[in-house]
Parts: sequence; structure tokens; C-alpha cells
Amino acid sequence: MKITFYGTRGSIPVADPAYFKFGGNTSCILVTFSTGRVAILDAGTGIRNLGNDLLKNSHEQYDNISIILSHTHWDHIQGFPYFEPAYDSRRTFTISICGKERIGKDLKSIFATQMQNDFFPVPLEKMGAKFIFLQPNITAYENPWGVKLLASKHSHRGDAYGYRIEEGGKTLVYCTDVEHKDGIDPNVVELSRNADLLIHDSQYTAKELEMKKGWGHSCWKQAIEVAEKAGAKKLALFHHDPDHNDTFLSNMEKECQKRYPPAFLAREGDEVVL
Ligand SMILES: [Zn+2]
Ligand SMILES: [Zn+2]
Repeated sequence: MKITFYGTRGSIPVADPAYFKFGGNTSCILVTFSTGRVAILDAGTGIRNLGNDLLKNSHEQYDNISIILSHTHWDHIQGFPYFEPAYDSRRTFTISICGKERIGKDLKSIFATQMQNDFFPVPLEKMGAKFIFLQPNITAYENPWGVKLLASKHSHRGDAYGYRIEEGGKTLVYCTDVEHKDGIDPNVVELSRNADLLIHDSQYTAKELEMKKGWGHSCWKQAIEVAEKAGAKKLALFHHDPDHNDTFLSNMEKECQKRYPPAFLAREGDEVVL
């Protein structure tokens, strides 16, 4: 399994040169399975480059590409109108939020709303590709290509889902936009158990978090605590605050690695092969 980071920023994209090292695009990750098939986690602004790369590499998975969303806050869906493969009528995409106790409104209406002509010139139904919108009330699913998915809801403003994805004997856990309210959430630890790679929200420092309780995010120390408790082999800290520039994040990464050597701050363009 290969994980490619196309957007590692949280909240809003940033375009300042002081942010180029870690990247300014919002949440989006490409997962390439051992079969060569791909899936996408979140559709933040990083999905624009991801789509361009799929076309550049002549990726021909026309039958179905899953776009799995943690939730529908703007920074996780706003890149979708600029996702070029979605304008190709040969292609099918399944856009889903999986997990028990469905959150938010109807997914199709959320995507259609952000493409209403007040906001964008092309409506969703005119993009071209076929879209299947799914909000299954499930915690576990296995697709015909041997990819297993486990979903678990966690605390965030309006809630969000974390995913455990297993394929080819490897395990990826994606857990962003998570707030650990009364100590570390045991469900997040359980979801992350023995993961080969855990991608976890680390928007704040512990000091910042004191001021931002209830904002729906974690500090890097909590991400490390989850990784340690779960026995994760690698930890990618993710969803960087738009006010944290490269100097700030480089220093934060050094602190993290002093405390937990397998941790790194995800940078746009990073690839991790499990
Ligand atoms: Zn977010
Ligand atoms: Zn959010």
C-alpha cells in the first residue's frame, strides 16, 4: 500500500512561500493498493493536483474510485469542483462517509450546494462522471478487491469518522479532525491498534489546545499518545494549522521526534510505502 499526501493543511489553504515546505493545500490523500487500484481520502484542495497526476499518469481505473470523507467541513470537500477526472464521462466515483449514526445532511445535496451557480459555474450534474453518493450505516466493509474498511465516529464539531484500511497485510489508519475530550478516546486507540501508519490530527501544540478546547482538534502530544497506546509503527501528524509556518512546523517536528522517533509531520508530496 502506498500513501501519497496531496493536502496536509487544516481549515483553509495557505499560499504564502513561508508555508511551501509542509504545503498549503487542505486535506487530501491518495491510497494506492497492491493491485494498483486507488482510493482517495477527503477532497480538500489537494485533490486538484491529485486529479492532475492521475490524468498525467494515464490512470485507467474508470469503473470506480472511492472518495471517502472524514466529514464534510469545507476544508475536506472544497477541492472537488477542481478535480479534473470528475469531468470525464467514462469514469465513476463513489463518494462516501461510512459509519454508524450518519452525520450531517444528505451528501449529494452538500456537494450540489457547493457547486450552485452562486458559488461555481458548473453544477454537479454537468461535471460528466457518474457519481454514487453513499452514507452506509456500517462499521466494517470489504470490497471485491480485498480492501477492508473499519469506520469509527469520533468527537469533532459536528462529529467526524476515522477509518482503518487493511489491504495486502498492511494497515493504514486515517483519523483527522478529532478532539480527545476526556482523556484519549479509547475508540481511536482501538481503531489504530498495531497500524503500520497512523495519520492523526495534530493541529495544535498542547499550550494552544488549552485555549482551543471544543474547537474539534488534537495537539501533537495527544497524537503521540494514541500512537504509543495503539502500538502504531509510524505516525504522520496531519491537518496543520494555517497559522503555523514552515519554521514553526519544523521546530514542532523536532519536538515530536525527541518524544517519539517514528513520528513525522506530513508534507505535501510525501509518499509512504507500507
Ligand atoms: Zn478539517
Ligand atoms: Zn472539521
